[in-house]
Amino acid sequence: MVCRLRARGGYGGAHGKLALDRRAAVSDKSADAEGETIVALSDIRVGARNEEAIATAISAFRQIFAERFQTGEAIRAQHAHTMTYIPAQLPDGVLFAENADDVKAAVRLCAEHGVPIIPFGTGSSLEGQINAPFGGISIDFSRMNRVIQVNAEDLDCTVEPGITREELNAYLRDTGLFFPIDPGANASIGGMTSTRASGTNAVRYGTMKDNVLAVTVVTAKGEEIRTARRARKSSAGYDLTRLYVGSEGTLGVLTSITLRLQGIPDVIAGGICGFPTLKDACNAVIATIQLGIPVARIELLNTLQIKACNAYSGLTLTEQPTLFVEFHGSQESVALQSRQFGEVASECEGGDFQWTADAEERARLWKARHDVYWAAKGLRPGAAVLATDVCVPISRLADCVAATEADIEEHGLLAPIVGHAGDGNFHVSVVFDDKDSAEIEKVEAFVARLNARALSMDGTCTGEHGIGQGKQSFLPRELGEAVDVMRQVKRALDPDNILNPGKIFRPE
Ligand SMILES: Cc1cc2nc3c(=O)[nH]c(=O)nc-3n(C[C@H](O)[C@H](O)[C@H](O)COP(=O)(O)OP(=O)(O)OC[C@H]3O[C@@H](n4cnc5c(N)ncnc54)[C@H](O)[C@@H]3O)c2cc1C
Repeated sequence: MVCRLRARGGYGGAHGKLALDRRAAVSDKSADAEGETIVALSDIRVGARNEEAIATAISAFRQIFAERFQTGEAIRAQHAHTMTYIPAQLPDGVLFAENADDVKAAVRLCAEHGVPIIPFGTGSSLEGQINAPFGGISIDFSRMNRVIQVNAEDLDCTVEPGITREELNAYLRDTGLFFPIDPGANASIGGMTSTRASGTNAVRYGTMKDNVLAVTVVTAKGEEIRTARRARKSSAGYDLTRLYVGSEGTLGVLTSITLRLQGIPDVIAGGICGFPTLKDACNAVIATIQLGIPVARIELLNTLQIKACNAYSGLTLTEQPTLFVEFHGSQESVALQSRQFGEVASECEGGDFQWTADAEERARLWKARHDVYWAAKGLRPGAAVLATDVCVPISRLADCVAATEADIEEHGLLAPIVGHAGDGNFHVSVVFDDKDSAEIEKVEAFVARLNARALSMDGTCTGEHGIGQGKQSFLPRELGEAVDVMRQVKRALDPDNILNPGKIFRPE
C-alpha cells in the first residue's frame, strides 16, 4: 500500500480549514484493485511560497502595469475559483493583460524573481487548473479577446486567447463558418487549447488537438515563438503545436491561436431516443459509430440526469436512459442518417426516434444538455458537485457505463451520468455535501474506482477535463514511465518551474 497523504503546511485561501478537514477525511479505503491508494484530491497542498520574491514582484507589477494589475481579495478569489470542491488557492495578484507585450513583460518579471504565473481564461476548468498552490501572479486574458484574422477561403482564423467560443461564433456568423468545439461552459479559446477540450461535437469534428493549427507562445524566458504556419499539413520538425495543446499553462503562455473552421451545415437535424436500459442506449451508440453513420453529436443521459434536466430546464422527457442525436449535412443526407440511426436504435430496443430540423426545438434540447451540470446541482440544493470524466475505447463503453451506474447504486451516491458517448467519453456529476467527511470519503473512493475501471479497459482518466490538481494520482497509473519524459520536457522548457507549478505532476 502506497499512501501519498503527506502534510506540507497549511492550505492558502479562504477555505484553508475546510481543506485540511477534507484531507483528514481521506483514508486508505480509497484503494484500487491493486491495493494502491490513488486518492484524487490528496495532492492539493500548498508548496513553499517565496514571500520576499512575491512582494518584490508585486511592487514591480504595480509600477509597470498600474490599474491593469490588481491585488484586491475579491478579484484574487475570482481567479482561484474552481468549479469543483477543490479548495481555492488564491494568487497574490491579477494582471489584466491587454496585448502580447504585457504578457512578455509579465513573464520576464516573474522569471527574474522566480514567481509563479497562472494563466487564466474564464476559470471554468474542473480539476483545479487555475489554483495558485505556491502563490504568484494570475494573467487574466479577458481583455485579449480580439479576432486577429479570418481567412475564410482557407477555413481558418487566428484569435487572441481570451475570446470565448460563443464570442468567436457570433463574430463568424456572417462568414458562413463556425468553430465547432463546445465545452458546456462558454470557455475561452486559450483555456480550451490548454486543456485540450472537446464537447458534444467532437465525435464529428474532433477535439482541440485536431482543430488548433498553430499557437504563439511566450516561453518561460519571456520570448515569443510561433509553432507552425497556416498550412493544413506540415512535417517541419517536432510538432510543438500539439505539445502546447493540453499543457495547462505549464509550458508557456499562449498569446494567439490559429484554428480550423468549418462551414455551417445546410441542414442540422436531430432528435432524442429513449431506451429501456443504459446498456441498450450504449449499444446503440457503439453500433452507430461502428457502422460509420456520421453523427455530429450523440450524447447519453441516464435516467437520473433526465430527471434532473426535466426539473431544471422545464422539460417533460420520459425518465429513462436517452440519447440526444444530431446530424449535419444536406436535406437528403440528414434524412438518410436519421433513418439509419432509427433502425440501429430500434434493433437495440430503443423507442421511436423522432427527429426535427426545427431550430427552436433543437436549441431548447441542446440548451438543456449544456446545462446538465446546473441541473445536477439542482438535485440537492446547497450541495457541491464533483464533475469527473473518463474515456474508454468505444467497444467498452457499455460495460464501463453499466458498471459505473451499478457502483453508484451500490454505494448510495447521488450521481447522474452524461456522456459524449460517441467518443467513449462520459461524465459523472457526483452531488454531495462537501462539509461531511464521510460523504467526501465515499466520493473519493468512487472516483478512484471509476478511474481504475476506465484504465483497466485501456481507457484514460480524463477524456477532456485534464489533470490539473485533481487527477495527478491517476496520470502515472495511466502512462507509467512516459510521465518521466513529460517531466523532462517540463524541466527543459521551464527549468525554474514558474509556469503554473503544482499542476499535472505530483510534487517530487
Ligand atoms: C458546466 C461545465 C461544463 C463543461 N463541459 C465541458 C465539456 O463538455 N468538455 C470539456 O472539454 N470541458 C468542459 N468543461 C470544462 C472547461 O470548460 C474546460 O476545461 C475549458 O477548456 C476551460 O476553459 P477556460 O477558459 O475556463 O480556462 P481556465 O479554467 O481559465 O484555464 C484552464 C487551463 O488553461 C490554462 N490557460 C488559460 N489560458 C491560457 C493561456 N492563454 N496560455 C496558457 N495557458 C492558459 C490555465 O492556466 C489552466 O491551466 C466544463 C465546465 C463546466 C463548468
